[in-house]
Amino acid sequence: MRPFQRTSSLRKISRRTPSGKSKTLLKSRRRNSKTCASCKKLLRGNLRSENRMFGGYLCHRCLSKYIKVSLRGIS
Ligand SMILES: [Zn+2]
Repeated sequence: MRPFQRTSSLRKISRRTPSGKSKTLLKSRRRNSKTCASCKKLLRGNLRSENRMFGGYLCHRCLSKYIKVSLRGIS
């Protein structure tokens, strides 16, 4: 185990590899909850099936705001 892996923020999972050896797998404990890039609010809904432009990146309010600004031109 390398020095940066000696931390309690990583979860250790023992898995058997296809070759038959058992190895400890390190997985992050952190849940990745995505936030809007503009207003930093949590994004809602299923992010994988989000087909909207900038889906999973901006929230619907910020996106509509940016579309309006881009259509009206920079004032
Ligand atoms: Zn937003």
